[in-house]
Amino acid sequence: MYSFLICFAGLGLFIFNITDKAFRFSPADWGWITAMSGSAVLLTVFTFQLPPQGNGLSLDSSVYLACIFIFGPSFALLVLLLSSLVLVFIEWGTTLLWKHLNNFAIYCILISSAAFIFTLSGGRQGPLLGSHLPAYASAMLVYFSLNLLLVGIFYYLMFHENLYTTLKDMLTDAVLAYLCTLVLSLVLTVLLYYNGMTGLALFLGLSILISYSFKRLFSMYRSIEERANRDQRTGLYNHSYFEAALEEEMRRSEASGQALSLAMIDIDDFKKYNDHFGHLKGDGLIVFLADLLTKETASTGIIVSRYGGEEFTLLLPGYDAAQAKVFIEQLRKLLNNSIFEGTEIFPQGCLAFSAGIAGYQPDVHFKSELVDHADQALYYAKKQGKNMVHIYGNQSSLERDIDFSQDVRDIEQQLNLFMYKDLETFKHSKRVFRYAMDISELLQLDNPARRQFTLGALIHDIGKLEIPWGILNKKDKLLPEEWEMVKWHVTWGKEMALTNDKYKELAPYIELHHERYDGKGYPYGFKGEEIPRLCRMLTIIDSFDAMTTERPYQPTKSFNEAIAELRACAGTQFDPELTELFIGYIEARELRPIGAAIS
Ligand code: GH3
Ligand code: MG
Ligand code: MG
Repeated sequence: MYSFLICFAGLGLFIFNITDKAFRFSPADWGWITAMSGSAVLLTVFTFQLPPQGNGLSLDSSVYLACIFIFGPSFALLVLLLSSLVLVFIEWGTTLLWKHLNNFAIYCILISSAAFIFTLSGGRQGPLLGSHLPAYASAMLVYFSLNLLLVGIFYYLMFHENLYTTLKDMLTDAVLAYLCTLVLSLVLTVLLYYNGMTGLALFLGLSILISYSFKRLFSMYRSIEERANRDQRTGLYNHSYFEAALEEEMRRSEASGQALSLAMIDIDDFKKYNDHFGHLKGDGLIVFLADLLTKETASTGIIVSRYGGEEFTLLLPGYDAAQAKVFIEQLRKLLNNSIFEGTEIFPQGCLAFSAGIAGYQPDVHFKSELVDHADQALYYAKKQGKNMVHIYGNQSSLERDIDFSQDVRDIEQQLNLFMYKDLETFKHSKRVFRYAMDISELLQLDNPARRQFTLGALIHDIGKLEIPWGILNKKDKLLPEEWEMVKWHVTWGKEMALTNDKYKELAPYIELHHERYDGKGYPYGFKGEEIPRLCRMLTIIDSFDAMTTERPYQPTKSFNEAIAELRACAGTQFDPELTELFIGYIEARELRPIGAAIS
């Protein structure tokens, strides 16, 4: 509607000014009209690129103003018509026709109004006269105010931004260009009037040279700006760029409602690598990961930055937390499988990172909050045994609410010994603990039972600390006597628990988690109901986690395969009723819609 009104007014003014006068120009006048149109086109093509965005400012208005001052509005409008037609031809396929028409109409309004005010305030066509200065000034003022207003309203209607700020921003951006155009239009008036074509050629030559210099300066500015935003070592964006990008992306998400996630990545046990191989090799590892991140995020719109040291951030516009997790998990596995010198010194036996993910929600107002959430999630992932990705806020509510955290910490302290002896057992214990948290919620256990069951799950493999390292980490099949020794862990573990009053009640979970429903388990061969109910549940969780755990160089069962396996062993190895209950929980958890995973 706005465009239509503009076109209507513009074309009306064009016809009003042009009729009958257009045909009174001599052939020499038409020569001048053509020359001036060519100049306007040249000035539109050779723009002045200005930082920071590199918007090209065209000085073609100086041509139209000079035409008004020397030859009058109908002449200026014909110049405009010709140059617009040439531009339609030059920009064919890149600019839409209606845009050309709209531009043409806006210029018609500007030229007609400026010419009207020029005459009204005593200006006369011809040479530049000092006494007419107020007339030139008012014409130019009207020309630019109208320009600002018409284009400003257009942006306001298109993008629904505040009209006042839109106009203010446009004015601050363009004020220099406006002033240049004003002075140049007067210079051109003098050159044209007294030196004709030579004056025009001089003017154009100078403009083109200046435009070229501006382009060079701008590309230098761009390369310096680029360097200021980059981390020297990795070539990734640096911390300060990340802060600015985060703010911008949050603002954009708030306005558009588009999802946004922040992932924070920290290399696992990097200090160990540094200490072992020296800082230079450590730097090589940082660069290796940076290159991997760059390659994998190419053309995804994800912004990767080096946050500091061996920490990286990924800003993922368009990804909610669950989708971001899928992406970061892929990166993690890719890094695990990457070949790099010296990876055998890592406890995981491969390169690894931990990551925390925070999904942007409209109630997050400060960027520091989102960073803090991602950081907390990262800390949690590290605490759970590293080489994993965690979404902020995804701990079971029980884990947060029930205050037996001191007990958990105490047991974790003991489990920390596994970090070096058998990392898999460490991570397995933590996962089984989390399953137990969920299951105790499902079974609606009272608080003491919850405490026992979950702590029992956390500590159940503690007896493995007594098994020699060589057997625990053996890749080949165990010999019969080695297998006998492994079986002893349930008894050793129970003995360990009994030495501490606080853990006495956890002893059954440790001792009985390898009993079987059909009585063929160890150490006692208890059968069915002889085994406490929650111990039977722990056996199921324990086995399910063992089946589905991803271990380097070993096949893993998918959740569906593991469920089938549980069912196949229900009634023999596992309590059939509890098996179904557990399967129900797993299926519900896996089927949970993506959005719910973030809550
Ligand atoms: P964690 O698994 O808990 O992350 O253990 P970590 O050993 O990686 O520990 P942390 O992240 O706290 O320590 C990172 C170390 O990285 C500390 C510092 O010595 C080292 N470091 C930081 N920046 C650089 C760097 O630019 N180059 C090298 N070579 N080392 C760095
Ligand atoms: Mg670190
Ligand atoms: Mg680290």
